[in-house]
Amino acid sequence: MKAGLGVDIGGTNVKILVVREDNKVLFQDRFKTHSEKGVKDFSVRLALKIKEAVKETGLKISCGAIGMAGDIDSEKGVLRYSPNLSGWKNVPIADILKAKTGLSFKVENDANMASWGAYVIELKRKSLNMAAITMGTGIGGGLIIGGKLYHGSSSTAGEIGHMIIETNGRLCGCGNYGCLEAYCGSKAIVKRALSKIKDKKAYRDKYGVGEEKKINAEALSCAASMGDKTALLVWEETGFYLSVGIGNLLMLLNLDSVIITGGVSKGKKYFMPALKKGLERYSIKTPIKIAKIFVSDNPDLGSLGSALFAMEK
Ligand SMILES: [Zn+2]
Repeated sequence: MKAGLGVDIGGTNVKILVVREDNKVLFQDRFKTHSEKGVKDFSVRLALKIKEAVKETGLKISCGAIGMAGDIDSEKGVLRYSPNLSGWKNVPIADILKAKTGLSFKVENDANMASWGAYVIELKRKSLNMAAITMGTGIGGGLIIGGKLYHGSSSTAGEIGHMIIETNGRLCGCGNYGCLEAYCGSKAIVKRALSKIKDKKAYRDKYGVGEEKKINAEALSCAASMGDKTALLVWEETGFYLSVGIGNLLMLLNLDSVIITGGVSKGKKYFMPALKKGLERYSIKTPIKIAKIFVSDNPDLGSLGSALFAMEK
């Protein structure tokens, strides 16, 4: 039976796993990225882990796939730039790993790999035209069109988080104004909530997460579950903004499914009603009605998607 090796490289953690073609996970591990130590140090540690994974599964694995946040040249297997991996520019990651491990690697944007994971695992390849929206600190996106990952002309298609949903809107991390990410990324959601809370200390004491009593997306989900009006309003606004972004996608691409995934998706109970209501505003109903929109709780769609994508021709 075939097996694929997938690696998800984030700003903080690296996840690695091996999946058999029947979706059974044979190996999984994670380690710290420590991108500040440089590409050379990182690639040595990653190559060792890859060799360990291959050895442990005892299967013939000839191909792997890597998902990483940033601007990727997927044809050449080069990371052009990543906001999460400071100082890493034009890194020929596929060539580096081939030299160290003997394996061939595909290199893709991490949200593209999460969308592949969603397509294969959640939708069982039955939904040929779909988008995945990864909602974390930032917002990523990937498109599957006609059952194939859609790269666009320079492998940068699917930057759903940087669609402008509000002209003259809020400043986004990318430098532009009014992007979806500036409204629905976890940072933006928390910022919006804090701007509405008068007694921030009391709010932190009541709903804050961990010893630091942090107000994050999880805290806002908890507050909403306890009926807190500010949290409920912020989630409702989030649903509305998402309906603008997703509505535009549906008008443009006539997708049959949109899957929302990532940390912020935990607030689904509180943003989904406003999202669905917001979509009702579109007067062209057919593309809205046909699309199934749902949230996936699977936290490993990125690394699973990479491993499954490694097996694709
Ligand atoms: Zn942006």
